[in-house]
Amino acid sequence: MKSLLKQKKISETPFRLEVLEILESSKSAVSISFIEENLKSYNRITLYRTIKTFVDKGIIHPIAIAGSEVNYGLCSDSCEDEVHSHNHVHLKCNECKSVFCIETTLFPTIDLGKHKIESLEIQAKGICENCRAS
Ligand SMILES: [Zn+2]
Ligand SMILES: [Zn+2]
Ligand SMILES: [Zn+2]
Repeated sequence: MKSLLKQKKISETPFRLEVLEILESSKSAVSISFIEENLKSYNRITLYRTIKTFVDKGIIHPIAIAGSEVNYGLCSDSCEDEVHSHNHVHLKCNECKSVFCIETTLFPTIDLGKHKIESLEIQAKGICENCRAS
């Protein structure tokens, strides 16, 4: 099986793989400071470039929720270069403050008349399943 980076035609470097692993092993979306805490060593410029490459190539997407640091969530297969399309909701947990990408089968379609929607983001605040269980 081809790795995600190869599928997206990004050359694999040990650093990119390390960043991707942090993103993949987290249940929630992660902020740059979380990635920094989990890297063995890093150069901030290289990290920012890596994040930008991943966003441009449809591997991750930024999630900006008012009052929070920007978080990055993994994309579904449908994202391509420069075009992000997600049918999921961004949930921010009021307790653990984590941000999650939650798939839903009932993602709404809305009609904006003659305006064309290219992406629709739904943000929710509440209590995540981990916090509800504890
Ligand atoms: Zn995406
Ligand atoms: Zn929580
Ligand atoms: Zn998301």
